[in-house]
Amino acid sequence: AGTGKFFVGGNWKCNGMKDSISKLVADLNDAKMENDVDVAVAPPFIYIDQVNNSLTDRIDISAQNCWVGKGGAFTGEISAEQLIDMGCKWVILGHSERRHIIGEDDQFIGKKAAYALSQNLKVIACIGEKLEEREAGKTFEVCFQQMQAFADSITSWENVVIAYEPVWAIGTGKVATPEQAQEVHVAVRDWLKKNISAEVASSTRIIYGGSVNGSNCSELAKQEDIDGFLVGGASLKGPEFATIVNSVT
Ligand code: PEP
Repeated sequence: AGTGKFFVGGNWKCNGMKDSISKLVADLNDAKMENDVDVAVAPPFIYIDQVNNSLTDRIDISAQNCWVGKGGAFTGEISAEQLIDMGCKWVILGHSERRHIIGEDDQFIGKKAAYALSQNLKVIACIGEKLEEREAGKTFEVCFQQMQAFADSITSWENVVIAYEPVWAIGTGKVATPEQAQEVHVAVRDWLKKNISAEVASSTRIIYGGSVNGSNCSELAKQEDIDGFLVGGASLKGPEFATIVNSVT
């Protein structure tokens, strides 16, 4: 872990129903979590209200996506204003499932981030390479291009957490080694230093995501430039998620 406050986010994706979500919330409310860690969970949109009404204030609520601008005639979309109204503090943007399954491109995601920040939603900005890009030696190039698109739209990085999530590690059980993750985190921090500022490079948290679980989290958390985690599958189990939150100590 680096200098910023450790951050752990749970991305529930398109999982859960009223009953299983109420069980998960109860488990999270019972779990012991270190004070010195920022924690957020991202339920599916339609369960945000249920979670907001039952989850401890210790844990922030995040959305998994939002519309690129002000609400209006955009069927099926949810705006940043609506998320704030429903008690969200954070939004995950640029998740690889939205980039590669839904087809969102770098510029669209950058614009979403700028709009969300303008409405006082904090942003978990996701980047990461696909397996073929890693094998072709293009990991840094892909991550920097995704970073550039965020930088083209964002004016302040104060409310941004960057999540490095190699696509080959998401939901596959194939976690990056601590060294593989650390290498990219250092490169992204260096990119921030060269392209934004030394201050932003040292104060922006860079978290890792991709098959993090209760067993592999503490080795990853020891890395100097890993400032937390974005957790998918293991965030659906309250006690295991708490283990990941507490892995920094
Ligand atoms: C994610 O979806 O952000 C993620 C990291 O998923 P998993 O932990 O299941 O690999």
